[in-house]
Amino acid sequence: MPPAVGTFFAAAFGAVVGSFLNVCIYRLPRGMSIVWPASACPHCGRGLAWFENVPLLSYAVLRGRCRTCSGVISTRYPTVEALTAAMFALGWWYYGPGTLLAARLLFGCALIVLFAIDLEHQLLPNAITLPGIIVGFLFSLVVEPGWMASLIGIVVGGGVLYLIAEGYYRLRHEEGLGMGDVKMLAMIGAFLGWKLTLVALMFASVSGSIIGISLIAARRGSMKYALPFGTFLAIGAAVSATLGQQVLNWYLNLW
Ligand SMILES: [Zn+2]
Repeated sequence: MPPAVGTFFAAAFGAVVGSFLNVCIYRLPRGMSIVWPASACPHCGRGLAWFENVPLLSYAVLRGRCRTCSGVISTRYPTVEALTAAMFALGWWYYGPGTLLAARLLFGCALIVLFAIDLEHQLLPNAITLPGIIVGFLFSLVVEPGWMASLIGIVVGGGVLYLIAEGYYRLRHEEGLGMGDVKMLAMIGAFLGWKLTLVALMFASVSGSIIGISLIAARRGSMKYALPFGTFLAIGAAVSATLGQQVLNWYLNLW
């Protein structure tokens, strides 16, 4: 099979997976089942026909509105579908078919769902983070980073954030980081191992600080609850999974 054909099918499959991720993003924070019932318009509740459920194409054809009630369909739907399609295509091209590709794509899907839910609801559901820790560890039995690095990653990832959260709480008597962030970084540790997890945490903190400071400067106000840390952890983990090893090598060469 020519590489371009494989990449195309990976992207198409990714778009379909992305449309399932949209279901998770909408339903998990609302306590709804992700398998039943079939998708419906969130405004008028009418069930969607198969041709209204085609990833990316339906949104374009319907011009972002429900056929019955003209309710606006969130741009989150095509965005998540396009992002997942791009991730599958790039992953296929970068890793090639194999267990590592499966591990990284599953990890990426979990990050996309956590990113979107945390951004909208300031919530990181256990339904994603806890199974994520187990699945990440199971993958590490056969692919990088290996089970030992994965196990240390779970303990270090969860432990570091737990100590920061606990310290912040004792100091300020209010919650700065939630237990959701702790479990999410433990999940990142399970998939990436402890070294890349620390790189992910660094990326998350730096990007969070830059955006936080610019928001404060622009609005001249407090943004304490406006920016959920899980969204930055997702970005940091995605960058670390792809570029983290180069960053580590570069850093270690400085010494
Ligand atoms: Zn509708």
